[in-house]
Amino acid sequence: MEIRNKAKSEDLVQTDTHRFLQVLQRSGKLRRCYTQNLDGLEARAGLNADIESKDCDVVQLHGDLDSFRCSYCSHLTSWDGVRETALASGEVVPCPECVSKVEERRRKGGRTNIHVGHLRPNIVLYHDIDDPLSETKARIIDKDAESAPDVLLVVGTSLAIDGPRYELKNKLIHAVRRNGGKVIYVNKNPPPRAFSKPVVDHIFEMDCDYWVRDLTAREPSLREDKAGQGS
Ligand SMILES: [Zn+2]
Repeated sequence: MEIRNKAKSEDLVQTDTHRFLQVLQRSGKLRRCYTQNLDGLEARAGLNADIESKDCDVVQLHGDLDSFRCSYCSHLTSWDGVRETALASGEVVPCPECVSKVEERRRKGGRTNIHVGHLRPNIVLYHDIDDPLSETKARIIDKDAESAPDVLLVVGTSLAIDGPRYELKNKLIHAVRRNGGKVIYVNKNPPPRAFSKPVVDHIFEMDCDYWVRDLTAREPSLREDKAGQGS
């Protein structure tokens, strides 16, 4: 809960990179943003982070801090203070979806000894194999790879990871390269060897906000006040 309080703090402000994402989205240049962050700042920048929605802009690879997930049926329940307090004090909070199924069966006179899951924060850890949205995420990655993207921008992460994120990296890099597009890497730390040239076309070892400010100074159409005025 402490992590959530920190991550949701009003002190956390959108960076120039978040605003740049918003500009890309508003000008129709953003196919998708995949984030490893849990702070929800992309959504605060006006991007749609609802993975089930047709117009989803942001895929939060590690879940979010705005909902609880049922340990049994994976149903998502909005975060609220009452449940947060109960969980923080060690209580087991039953899943409202499971409970309502039991009650419905009871009304119909059926058996009621069915399992009721408990709520947990909707966070997916690095090696968590229990990600109920893994199929949805894989479907979106495949759809994006098939959509002939022309740029893959890797910002603020070295992607030195395995598991589903490794698949994401490989599929999108191949899709962009197959399409004759460019893979651009912006991060303070250098990329891992497998993710270096010639796999990546341009490497900028620098702070991503600095890179965004420099880019938008050179390319006025990518500035915030120009978004949505055509490309
Ligand atoms: Zn449930």
